[in-house]
Amino acid sequence: MLSNLVNLFFPDNCPGCGYNFLRGESVICQRCLNSLPKTNYHQRHDNPVAKNFWGKANLHAATSVYYFDKGESLQHLLHQLKYRGNSKIGVVLGQQAAIELQLSDEFRCADVIVPVPLHPKKLLMRGYNQSEVIAKGISDIWGTPVQPALLIRTKHTETQTHKSRFERFENVKDVFHLDNEEAYAGKHILIVDDVITTGSTILSCADTFATVPHCKISVVSVAVAHR
Ligand SMILES: [Zn+2]
Repeated sequence: MLSNLVNLFFPDNCPGCGYNFLRGESVICQRCLNSLPKTNYHQRHDNPVAKNFWGKANLHAATSVYYFDKGESLQHLLHQLKYRGNSKIGVVLGQQAAIELQLSDEFRCADVIVPVPLHPKKLLMRGYNQSEVIAKGISDIWGTPVQPALLIRTKHTETQTHKSRFERFENVKDVFHLDNEEAYAGKHILIVDDVITTGSTILSCADTFATVPHCKISVVSVAVAHR
């Protein structure tokens, strides 16, 4: 809240911590970048994010790069990215995520990056898809192409805040589709999202590729909501 206000009146302040940018800093200050809480989940196949999908989706690999902690700078950054029009934050977070995963072939060997799509109504309101912006940041570092709008939400989902885990899953089930299945045959697809909470959105995305022959699906999010 405070950092939102500070940023509104003092755009030269870091949206993560509210402090003034030092010379040469922009978008996110170095202190915030250095203190992003790393999960290092990519180092373990059986990490909690991957395990969450066991028995539900046949994923090659899955990870979240940072922990999402309430009140910490990453929460402020993601809030500014989603609700305050600061899309540059997404690019920088995507770049940071790519650097963290730089040595992890499981993710780096992906052929194409597919951001989790936004419903067109939300896209119109926000002006950009935050997952696509993050995907572009990853692509900046790795050179892997981003192919957005391959999956499209076919209905506007209700707000998820007051729903149980099962209801949330039902709520987003089957709301994506793939335009050009053949284009993904035999490809390794990296699905990118901002925050993983229940994982149900990612599951729906992965399910959409189920009929594509010989494709491999991996998942990366910037943050995961539970430690
Ligand atoms: Zn900062």
